Amino acid sequence: MSFFGPRFKQVIVSSPGQTSTEQEQESPAGPRRRNKSKFGCRECKAKRVKCDENYPICRRCQRQGIVCSSAPRLTQWQVETPWLSLQPNTLVNRRLLQYWLEKVSQNFVIDPENNPFSFPALQYVSQSSALLHAIQSISASHERFFPADAPIIALEERGKAIACLRGEISQSQCPSNAVFLSIMLLALAQSADSDMKDYGKQHLLAARAFVNSMVQDTSTLVTNDIRVRLCLGMYLYWDMCSSFLVDPWEPQGPNLFNISNAVRMMGDWHHPMYGTCSELLFIIANVGRYCRQILEPLQNRKLMQEAALEAQLTSWKTTPPNPSLGHLYEAFRKHGLIFLYRAHVAHTQSSYITDPDSSEAEESLIQQYAEETVCHLMQIPATSYYLNFQSLPLLTAGSELTTSNHFLRDQVRGRLRAIYSLNRLPANLLALQLLEELWDARDRGTPSFWLLHMLQKDWRLLLG
Ligand SMILES: [Zn+2]
Ligand SMILES: [Zn+2]
Repeated sequence: MSFFGPRFKQVIVSSPGQTSTEQEQESPAGPRRRNKSKFGCRECKAKRVKCDENYPICRRCQRQGIVCSSAPRLTQWQVETPWLSLQPNTLVNRRLLQYWLEKVSQNFVIDPENNPFSFPALQYVSQSSALLHAIQSISASHERFFPADAPIIALEERGKAIACLRGEISQSQCPSNAVFLSIMLLALAQSADSDMKDYGKQHLLAARAFVNSMVQDTSTLVTNDIRVRLCLGMYLYWDMCSSFLVDPWEPQGPNLFNISNAVRMMGDWHHPMYGTCSELLFIIANVGRYCRQILEPLQNRKLMQEAALEAQLTSWKTTPPNPSLGHLYEAFRKHGLIFLYRAHVAHTQSSYITDPDSSEAEESLIQQYAEETVCHLMQIPATSYYLNFQSLPLLTAGSELTTSNHFLRDQVRGRLRAIYSLNRLPANLLALQLLEELWDARDRGTPSFWLLHMLQKDWRLLLG
């Protein structure tokens, strides 16, 4: 950590009802004490059983495949950030900021030890009021499991963030990462609201404009500018999760030519959010855009483009930093292929051209990939931070599971609840609701494509 890093001091909690972990270990553990867990999850407390306090999901909840809601823990560290006082004190809500640093920010990366959104981001927080307010808004919602009616403080902080962001962009006095991160957090906050149609489109379009101008000059990528790479990577992941939600007639598209050049320059660079799969994210975002396009009435397939996307997906290679990430990447790749084949089948069905031979072959390939995808994801332990990046492939692959796959269906149910226990985004539970509807329809003999089904319900879920 660089010299401007914060200093920490451990908080000593001395009141008898709120013993610190250290004190607990020192004191002799009586039998009554051993059966009581201080920070146990609500589910275990309701059942009056001992909770092992595993975060984000305790072993009992994990076994039962249910949501695990841990009570907010006392914070262990007090951050001493003298330069944060440069901000008028009323702006900083220390509790919410700390909650972000210790907990919420961990949902944005694969490795909590290498998290630019946690303590290292404090330097940007001190320069950008928009970022500070966006962080405080997300924290206030996260600690209450993003309730349908966002807490008043979360809405106030969001309003302040938007107002500050306008000023900071127009005066361009603020580091680009801070601006980009603020935009992304605002989109996330908006997509977690109770409006199922709202995936934070305006913020996504703002981020696109921002990235388009950033990749105009690719020299910064050549010179390994980490800030540019961080932003571009965040955008690539976000675009993968939302390209198929954007209406195809929306004029503000990404500059695909420049972005693809930039992605090539990034190569296998390890992004703290997802590792070495930048190019794969870009390909899948394009698959999503294409699939959404051909679902519109009277749109023809573009066979060349389809073949190119399929070839890019199958030939993409990387050396994953560890086996679990390898499983995640394979799940992504197969998500892309299932998406492409299923959109093709749906297009064929809607245009009343049927070729029983090719569709049968395609169906069996979809089946195989769907089962493989779920198996890949289940190889990753439910306590891993990689969970945050799984909801989209779980939906795509899960929706293809037949009634004979009831074991895998149960695993998908449990996994989506585990993801919700970790990042608390309601979209995970809504995805589960979609899946139950799709499984019912499939079991009644009327299978449907998850994206079509979601659009028919007029939902636009931001998953991921
Ligand atoms: Zn528990
Ligand atoms: Zn639990």
